[in-house]
Amino acid sequence: MNDGRKKKPVIFFLGLAGSGKDTQAEILVRKYKFDVINSGAILRSITGSITKLKNGSREEYEVKEIKKIMNKGGLVPTLTIVSRWLGPLLEIIRNQKRHKGIMFTGSPRKIAEAWLLHEFFLNWPDAKKNFEVAPVEVKISEREVFRRILARKQCEKCKKIFLAEDSKFLKNCNVCGGRLIRRKDDTHSSVLARIREYKKYTAPVIRYFKGLKKLRIVNGEQTVEKVHKDVVKTLGL
Ligand SMILES: [Zn+2]
Repeated sequence: MNDGRKKKPVIFFLGLAGSGKDTQAEILVRKYKFDVINSGAILRSITGSITKLKNGSREEYEVKEIKKIMNKGGLVPTLTIVSRWLGPLLEIIRNQKRHKGIMFTGSPRKIAEAWLLHEFFLNWPDAKKNFEVAPVEVKISEREVFRRILARKQCEKCKKIFLAEDSKFLKNCNVCGGRLIRRKDDTHSSVLARIREYKKYTAPVIRYFKGLKKLRIVNGEQTVEKVHKDVVKTLGL
């Protein structure tokens, strides 16, 4: 019963490392002025603010534990992440007249988080009326993941990433002139590990939304511009 009005999208991209999903999210946010809930940035900002927390407080304890997990490269528990994005999400929904849509980046990472996110939008009155969960899978083959990640380079100075196609012709960064090098964690074995993690955690998220007929799929093995066009089309923007 949304009296014919289009619901605002709650977008998140799902895709293997190197699929270009972050680039696609950035382009959409710039073009459509969506609000962003970036879990990685939220976690980095709370662990960065640990010195401001009261010694021995519950908050300090929580942030210390989160830091321990992150330093070991582990996944922060779903409950902790959800409790951190719920506040910003409520703020957006409360002021929704000003907002065009929401982009989640870095979330949902696991099926439990996907379920909680979706369940929120099914039950929160203002949310279910006006928003619709819109996951987009950017599909690329495992072979393409290896090709892209092992060929990409990063500027030593400003850390800009250069995709395979660009780094082939460049020796130096076109922004700051720094040397282009391969990132330390862009190795064959780390790519394998990322694919394994994707299959374990993200594949169930994809299956979940596919089962609900909510999943949009785009072919990620095209130019950035073409993928963007397909994303816009599949989301009906
Ligand atoms: Zn640079």
